[in-house]
This record gives sequence, structure tokens and C-alpha cells, in this order.
Amino acid sequence: MSNLIEGVSWQGYLCPLDSKPKLFETCFNCKHDVCDIPVLRSMGKPFPVYSNEYHVTELVGPPLIMKFKRENPYYMEPDNALFMMIGTAVHEKIDRENGSLTDFTKLHEYKIRYGLDPYTIVGTMDYVDFTSGLIQDYKCLGAWKTDDLRKKALNGTLNEDEYGLQLNGYRAWGFPEATQLRLHCIIRDYNGRTAGTYKLESQQMRINVPIVDNGYMDDLARTNIEESLKDVPRMCTPEQRWVNRKTGKFVRCASFCPVRTCPNYGGPQYNPEDVT
Ligand code: SF4
Repeated sequence: MSNLIEGVSWQGYLCPLDSKPKLFETCFNCKHDVCDIPVLRSMGKPFPVYSNEYHVTELVGPPLIMKFKRENPYYMEPDNALFMMIGTAVHEKIDRENGSLTDFTKLHEYKIRYGLDPYTIVGTMDYVDFTSGLIQDYKCLGAWKTDDLRKKALNGTLNEDEYGLQLNGYRAWGFPEATQLRLHCIIRDYNGRTAGTYKLESQQMRINVPIVDNGYMDDLARTNIEESLKDVPRMCTPEQRWVNRKTGKFVRCASFCPVRTCPNYGGPQYNPEDVT
């Protein structure tokens, strides 16, 4: 049985009025007419973190983010949570319309739980077809990221990307017999300009992910967990910081990283002591 570590994980928002951290309940009862409370409520809820239990998504990401997120409560600007909410809404809609179909060889939101002694790995596959051997992950992405994934698929580096590794994690720890892994990208900023810039033919793109050895995924999980448990884990790589090859800027560090207390984070910093 896992032990709940209390007081960690995403716990609230950074208030647009004073940039100070607020617990969800404080925001939900706010009397200022600045944020839309129903939207805040739909986006934010603390999720429990258990010692020795790791999500596939955190295992394939940077150990530094894993450490910060597991050991420190964190707070996000409401604007930065919106894309996450859009992605969740899309997943819920797909599951709602398809999840109750009675073909039990094709399942949506299929939960996995895998023992990698002494750790437990958990996750949820968006869609799995046990007959054809397909695991599919839906992603609501910007045009830049979709194009980036397509380029990586073409030059053989998609398995160095977190999304490529995530699908391989689902395979290794949930359905090792899978023969096809696929990202289904829904491009949220598709328009005439982005279609032209990134040569997009449609608002959706399917990208196949190459399969890596299951042993590689086990080794990656162990290495990343052990790294995250160090006092100072290794620095995130440029790839993990979402380097823009044209500008050299680190897109994740600039505003998307949940680790606001990392010195490399480019958005507003806050003092965790100020939480109300
Ligand atoms: S801000 Fe950048 S360097 Fe710091 S944890 Fe996030 S991705 Fe890594």
C-alpha cells in the first residue's frame, strides 16, 4: 500500500491581482470579479502524490521537474492552465462518446498499474485496440509542437521526445504486445497563417511512434526516479527545455514549466510562504 505524501502537487493559482499563491479554495471563494470562477474550478484540483508510485508522464520527463513537483506545492497562472483544461475537455468528450461502446477489445481511458520493484508505475492510455495492437494518445497541441513531432518522426528522434517515450511507456508497462503506437494531434491554433508556416494540410495529424525495447523503458524509469531523489538532480536538457532551434529560446522554461521555483523559469516567481 502506498503512503500519501500530503501537501504536495498542484495546489492553487497565482493570483493575477498580486501574483501571490492562493489555494484553490481561496480562489473559488474570491469576491473580486477578475477570474471566472467556473473556469478556475473546472481546471484546478489537487491530485494526490504517493511515495513510490509514479505516473508514466512524469517518468518520461525531466527528473528535475519530477522532483520539484513531488516535493513542493506549486501554483499556476490561470492563463497557463487553460491549454491543459482544453486538452482534458477533448479527452473527456472522446471518452464520453466512445467509452461506453461494448466492443471490449477497443477501450478508452484504460488504466495501467505495473510493478517495477520497489516502485509502482501508473497511467491511463487514451485509446487501446487489443485486436489490432494499437495504442493511441490524443494530444491538443500548437502548430509549432505538432510540426516538431513530425520532424522528429522523419529524422528518427521521436523516441527522444517525451510524447514518443510516453507511448512506449504505455506499451512496456500496460500492453507489451502492442505493435503500433500513434500520436493523434489535434492542432488548436490551426489557421491560414499556421497552416502556411508549418505546411499543415489539416487540423489533425497522425504520427506513428517507433517502438523501443521494454527493458530500455524500465531502465529509463529507474534512472529518472533515482535522479529525482537526489538533492540536486541533473539539469534539464535543451530538448527537455523545448529549445526553439531558430531563436535558441527555451519555450518550456519561458512560461510552460510548472516548476515556478526553478531559477531558469522565465515567468513571475513567487514566495511559497505567501500562500493564502
Ligand atoms: S524551468 Fe526549465 S530548467 Fe527549470 S525545471 Fe522547468 S524545464 Fe527544467
